[in-house]
Amino acid sequence: MNPHPIRCVCGQKIQASQLLEIRYLQHSMGQNRVYVRFECPRCGHARERLIRQQEWDRFVLSSMPYTEISRTEREQFQRLGEITKEEHWQARQLLEDVWSVEQLQACVQPDKNR
Ligand SMILES: [Zn+2]
Repeated sequence: MNPHPIRCVCGQKIQASQLLEIRYLQHSMGQNRVYVRFECPRCGHARERLIRQQEWDRFVLSSMPYTEISRTEREQFQRLGEITKEEHWQARQLLEDVWSVEQLQACVQPDKNR
């Protein structure tokens, strides 16, 4: 499990509803960053953080209510982990040869080993 990406210096975990300002900082080279400003509910101070886009995405997804997936499905997704570069490349290669929905359905088989 990854550490909570937005914490106050007092150790308090900051939730999405406590954010006062969000700015996306794009880089032409390197990783994008997200600037956040928040007011800590424990110590009451306004603080700032600069986090990586990847951490921000994880924070947003973890803040969303799970209304469309069951607990079992969520646990299955968590066990799968992040999509690796190799898995991404394999999916792109697979899609280059697919020309119909029927072909795509034939390619997508549940992996029972995961
Ligand atoms: Zn604090």
